[in-house]
Formats: sequence, structure tokens, C-alpha cells
Amino acid sequence: MSQPNAMPTAIRSIAKTGVLEIDWDDDSQSVLSHEYLRVTCPCADCTGHTPDQAKVIVGKQDVRATLVELVGNYAIRIVFDDGHSTGIYTFEKLYRDMK
Ligand SMILES: [Zn+2]
Repeated sequence: MSQPNAMPTAIRSIAKTGVLEIDWDDDSQSVLSHEYLRVTCPCADCTGHTPDQAKVIVGKQDVRATLVELVGNYAIRIVFDDGHSTGIYTFEKLYRDMK
């Protein structure tokens, strides 16, 4: 796995507004909605095991992240209040998604 270009210096999950804010060590910031994170969940259940099985997830406008925890030094795991908790979001993906 290649190293991400940037590392987070702070990660804040704000339930009230439903966003995840990430401060990066290059002084940029990502603001990603919990809905966006849920519908782009990278886990095998959500993406399918092959590209032609890819699912589109809808109806998650009100979903909230209830727990965000670090996975090693390269990713976070997000637990959502719809019971989904298997998504591992690499810093590389989160950083790229900000653009
Ligand atoms: Zn998933």
C-alpha cells in the first residue's frame, strides 16, 4: 500500500450537522457528510466483491456516524447509527475525496 500524501492532525465527527471534519498536516481541511461517507462505504458488502456487483446505496440522508476510530496509522473505521460498521476509510481516500 502506498503512503498517503497527507496525514490527519485532527478528526472531528459532528453529529449535530452530520459532518466529519479532518484537518490535514498540510493545513488543508476535509468536510465530508456522514451521508456521503455512508453511501461511499468501501467495504466489500457495500461495493460488491467485483466491480460488476457494485451497489448504489440510497436513503441515508439522516444517517449519523456514532463512532470514529483509528485503524493503524493509515485509516479510520466509522460506525454508523444504521448499524453499519465495517467500512475502513483510508486517509488516502479521505484526502482524495476532499478535492
Ligand atoms: Zn459498507
